[in-house]
Amino acid sequence: MGRVFVLVGPPGSGKGTQAELLRERFGLVHFDMGGELRREMASGSELGETIAGYVNQGKLVPLPIIAEIVGKFLRENKRADILFDGFPRSLEQAEVLDRAIEGEGELELRAVFNFVIPKEMLLERVVYRRLCPECGAVYNLRTSPPREDELCDRCGAKLIQRSDDREEVFLERYETQYEGYVVPVIQHYRKMGKVIDIDATRSVGEIFAQLEESVAQGQ
Ligand SMILES: [Zn+2]
Repeated sequence: MGRVFVLVGPPGSGKGTQAELLRERFGLVHFDMGGELRREMASGSELGETIAGYVNQGKLVPLPIIAEIVGKFLRENKRADILFDGFPRSLEQAEVLDRAIEGEGELELRAVFNFVIPKEMLLERVVYRRLCPECGAVYNLRTSPPREDELCDRCGAKLIQRSDDREEVFLERYETQYEGYVVPVIQHYRKMGKVIDIDATRSVGEIFAQLEESVAQGQ
């Protein structure tokens, strides 16, 4: 029986890094909605053409199509352990996932790992983050600053701030996407007894140790 794991958390909580580590350690199959949609479009199928119609007009892909994509993915990977990160992003998407898992019969939703970190701490991580546009090095002006003011240690380029990392952009995303849509997903899975809270203020290694232990159980 394949197991399904879900990672949820606010932007900047470090779950992408943990998803990568879990894939490496356990060979989990990763569901990436954007990638699945692109793959379907590239296949030239009827479904792919329908999806392209929405995407090319800049429209959201409707829920029934999302359900079809998720169902197909689970069917193809039902004997594997699957990791969802960045999906479900809303209560209605969570219900799509639940129905797809139930419909498959050979899969079990094992755990929803909820990355918990205070908003103020996230803001500090994000607002002080600077990137080198030349070599991609990442700094934090508070916790890991470059030796010289806003210049890259490796190549000397002037560091930049991503527009997503600006305080007002971050807060807008946090409130509309996370508080508005993801928090209800967490509440839904908490009622089902599936949520494991992860203290995401800790180091990458400490967080991974907790996840590793949970995923290794009942393997
Ligand atoms: Zn650089």
